[in-house]
Amino acid sequence: MRVLLVEDDALLGDGIRAGLKQAGFAVDWAQDGQAGKLALETEEYAVIVLDLGLPKLSGTELLKWLRGRASALPVLILTARDKVSDRVAGLNAGADDYLVKPFDLDELIARLHALLRRSAGQTTPLLLHGDIALDPVTHQVRKSGKMVELSAREFTLLHELLLHVDRVQSREQLEQRLYGWGEEVESNSVEVHVHHLRKKLGADLIRTLRGVGYVIDKDVSAS
Ligand code: CA
Repeated sequence: MRVLLVEDDALLGDGIRAGLKQAGFAVDWAQDGQAGKLALETEEYAVIVLDLGLPKLSGTELLKWLRGRASALPVLILTARDKVSDRVAGLNAGADDYLVKPFDLDELIARLHALLRRSAGQTTPLLLHGDIALDPVTHQVRKSGKMVELSAREFTLLHELLLHVDRVQSREQLEQRLYGWGEEVESNSVEVHVHHLRKKLGADLIRTLRGVGYVIDKDVSAS
């Protein structure tokens, strides 16, 4: 798989290139927006990793140019933590996914594989409920298309409840899903995770049946 990396930070670019190579990708590294554009005009790529803050031509401009040519090439953008407006502009300009710097190389690689799978038409088994989408492969949860950060246990709990919509599960059943063998269960942990999930995803998503357990009711708007 050939990847175009457009990144002007020498240290970061070098690290990403080395990591992607090790993961089996062939990497072309362009260090400014113009060089990225030239590469796209002359070479064929499976996916692009695109920094937004670039000399000569910004990542957003490059992305607009690419989408203006009706290219459906998957694009993952890299953004700075404090540049929320850039991220929004990038997504609006047609980016498929994004990572906030600093990020983990393993996460970048997992996201690229997910993008490649999607662009190859192999749909991932997304779990959908109202405006919430959970991707078991990439471990991402989105609400109205926006990524929601969940802890590993919050994710597992939500996954479990979404897999068994309309089925009430007891706290003990859920604890078994959340904790591995020999792991100590924190007291009230299910209650705490449910509380966090409600705060992040909506107060009425998970229903408590006092003394019985928890359930996500069937999404009536979907049928
Ligand atoms: Ca940059």
